[in-house]
Amino acid sequence: MDNPQFVWVDGKLVAWNDATIHITTLGTAGVSLVYEGIRAYWNADARKLFVLQLDEHLARFEQSIRLTRMRQTIPTAEIRAGILALVRANQCAQDTYIRPFAFVESTYYSGISNDQARLVINSMPNPLPVSGVRVVHACVSSWSRVTDNVMPPRVKASSNYLNSRYAMEEAKRNGYDIALLLNPSGKVAEAPGACLMIVRDGKIITPSVTSGILESITRETIIQLCREVLQIQVIERDVDRTELYIAQEAFLCGTGTEVTPIASVDRFTLGDGKIGALTQRIATLFQNLARGIDPRYPEWRTAV
Ligand code: PMP
Repeated sequence: MDNPQFVWVDGKLVAWNDATIHITTLGTAGVSLVYEGIRAYWNADARKLFVLQLDEHLARFEQSIRLTRMRQTIPTAEIRAGILALVRANQCAQDTYIRPFAFVESTYYSGISNDQARLVINSMPNPLPVSGVRVVHACVSSWSRVTDNVMPPRVKASSNYLNSRYAMEEAKRNGYDIALLLNPSGKVAEAPGACLMIVRDGKIITPSVTSGILESITRETIIQLCREVLQIQVIERDVDRTELYIAQEAFLCGTGTEVTPIASVDRFTLGDGKIGALTQRIATLFQNLARGIDPRYPEWRTAV
């Protein structure tokens, strides 16, 4: 597949091949880069692209920049306009993945705060499967999730994903599709790139935002949909490992993952090992809203 034509760099649209950084920057980019993963959904009937929850993602991006004490010199409104300009310039007429990045450009680790954040946005045609098309087999990882006073998972920092990589690599090596990480207190936190919900007795249970998770926008959306549309009770609380084994249903949720059903955890089959009835309802509702097929919650969709 061809690369998109443009990348947005510090406020300007730059041709893909010219969007480069000096090789000596790489040493510190790894420990001082925060980003967002945003999805835009193509509605084929309306021939429109909708960016899902753009403002929520921008708010979290700003928060990640602030928590890592980078200095944001381009206002969020301008980044927002930049995202829309980039997607238009790249003529995206299909599902698209958009990532704004903020990083400190320095050739050595100084540890100095208030460094100016460089800002880059890229858009990519989205190769990932859409919601509900596959079920995954999960294991509980032998790695613990990073924790707030070590590497705060609330910050969407690229460095946190090394923890994710350890967990995913182990899971795949042992024949699973996905890892589920416990926090250092032994309670369930999240998957390497998604949050987790389980179903017990018709109720949704999900680890709370103080369990060592990224404050997922999809998780919030699903909680709201369950409460307001599906009239299903959602409980945010500590989740024990063994609850994963006895849940009737479980699913992952996140921007990339969307709603992905979990068939088994540590080879304990959940339900009949297929997508559960409630998970299916949530996945369908989410897809239709994201794509604007269901017109409710228009404030979640920004038309490009
Ligand atoms: N947790 C982690 C570690 C993630 O990388 C993601 C994906 N951004 C999520 C949860 C889900 O967050 P969101 O719904 O905001 O994409």
